Amino acid sequence: MKVTILGKNGLKTVDLNRRKAARERCLNCTGWYHKEVTNCTFTDCPLYSFRSGRGKQNAKTRSKAIREYCLWCMDGQAAEVTKCTSKDCSLFSYRQTKTDRSIEINSYRKK
Ligand code: SF4
Repeated sequence: MKVTILGKNGLKTVDLNRRKAARERCLNCTGWYHKEVTNCTFTDCPLYSFRSGRGKQNAKTRSKAIREYCLWCMDGQAAEVTKCTSKDCSLFSYRQTKTDRSIEINSYRKK
């Protein structure tokens, strides 16, 4: 799904899925220092196991981790996660059980 998210040098348009969304969130968290994501010590972060964006990942566990992260971000308030307005956050589309496609860039054409 093509969306515009916050990157190191401002907004960028990317082809996103849950795997990449989690990785992007971790990069954002460290100020886009790849090494810091690799060496992250916050093992209690819901996204910890998914920070590399590589390897075999359990899709259900990953979706749950993203929702859990969003809940943490909104201080445990599920209603606030629903009402989140941070459309440039990589997790925005995946913050709920059903994918929110409201920010999808439909006009994008593959080369
Ligand atoms: S999508 Fe919203 S609730 Fe989820 S991490 Fe991003 S800013 Fe927080």
